[in-house]
Amino acid sequence: MKVTDHLLEAKETLFSFEILPPLKGKSIQSIFDGINPLMEFKPKFVNVTYHREEYIYKERENGLLEKIAIRKRPGTVGICAAIMNKYEIDAVPHLICGGFSREETENALIDLQFLGIDNVLALRGDSIKTEANFKPDKNGHTFAQELIEQIDEMNSGNYLMDEVQLEPTKFCIGAAGYPEKHFEAMNLSTDLLNLKKKVDAGAEYIVTQMFFDNKKYFEFVETCRAIGINVPIIPGLKPIKSMNHISFLPKFFHIDYPEALSKELLKCKSNSDVMQVGIEWGIQQSKELKAAGAPCIHYYTMSNSESVKAIANQIF
Ligand code: FAD
Repeated sequence: MKVTDHLLEAKETLFSFEILPPLKGKSIQSIFDGINPLMEFKPKFVNVTYHREEYIYKERENGLLEKIAIRKRPGTVGICAAIMNKYEIDAVPHLICGGFSREETENALIDLQFLGIDNVLALRGDSIKTEANFKPDKNGHTFAQELIEQIDEMNSGNYLMDEVQLEPTKFCIGAAGYPEKHFEAMNLSTDLLNLKKKVDAGAEYIVTQMFFDNKKYFEFVETCRAIGINVPIIPGLKPIKSMNHISFLPKFFHIDYPEALSKELLKCKSNSDVMQVGIEWGIQQSKELKAAGAPCIHYYTMSNSESVKAIANQIF
């Protein structure tokens, strides 16, 4: 079932979450161990992130460096199929532009359709570590908007390979939004105009980057509505968990902590102190978002179901 249909059917704020494929070598059980504790909150869908390859350089015997592609977290599509089978809920694979040609994208989407997956979150992806800026694959997409256009074309039955007759796909397409602006955008206004292009291209709902200040989400929704973005906007929340997160999350995700939160974090002496602050902050944020009628609250577990469970216990 489509994410947008779940949202339409819902009588109150839905609960959903995102998981990362486990590091190579771990079993599917580690995924189930992360999902099991959250099933009591009746998620209608679970997102599974996609991680593209990275390049490392290995020195060969002759002293020359060899460039090797590695993927640390493969398996997004297989994990989606396993989740749908085991829990009978929808899985939303993330699909990115980076590392994919248009033909590879088409084939990936055909595979998803074979598996009965109706949803996809369409993203550009970040640059790989060895590149300063995002570089599309040869014959790949530069912006998520183009990926969305391709999926939308497939939904109309227009495939790149015209020699085979295929049924139109039926993907419900989600896109990413940034209440604190995407870090590459000149300003929030241009970023929002680019977000509108994704919606005009066929994105049917938006999931936001994590934020810790609900005011920013409310303002973001208001501005989106003012410029004609009328699709559901699902807030994304991340419970801060460790001392390391305090500086990592703002640096990596380009977000700010509001002053009241930073004051609490400054008092923390251990990971468990931070985890407690993260849970309490997440509960307050969730209560306010739910009261304001958010269609769904989407939690970034980042392999930490414990804090999400503690928050969900108070909210759902
Ligand atoms: P885009 O929408 O293409 O935007 C990228 C930048 O280009 C922005 O600054 C935007 O303003 C600008 N822009 C967009 N369209 C145009 C245009 N037509 N013309 C000119 N400028 C334009 N990354 C992963 O690798 N795997 C994941 O699984 C993953 N999941 C995510 C889930 C969520 C909910 C979010 C919020 C992010 C996720 N990311 C993931 C990170 C994401 O890939 C990065 O933030 C990436 O840098 C931007 O992706 P995007 O889809 O927002 O890009």
